[in-house]
Amino acid sequence: MRTGAKRQGDEYYQCPLCKFYYLEKEWADACEAWCRDHSSCNLDITKHAVHPPFGKEP
Ligand SMILES: [Zn+2]
Repeated sequence: MRTGAKRQGDEYYQCPLCKFYYLEKEWADACEAWCRDHSSCNLDITKHAVHPPFGKEP
């Protein structure tokens, strides 16, 4: 489990469909593509999702 003690930058990428956050754009893109095509989440992708820091929501 990530403790959040060490945070690298403030960049998070969010899948606009399932709202999961990712540290890597590749995963966010993969998630979005999957969500759009399958209307469900792929566990192999969402396991890379992270919890965003509070206050970063638009
Ligand atoms: Zn998604």
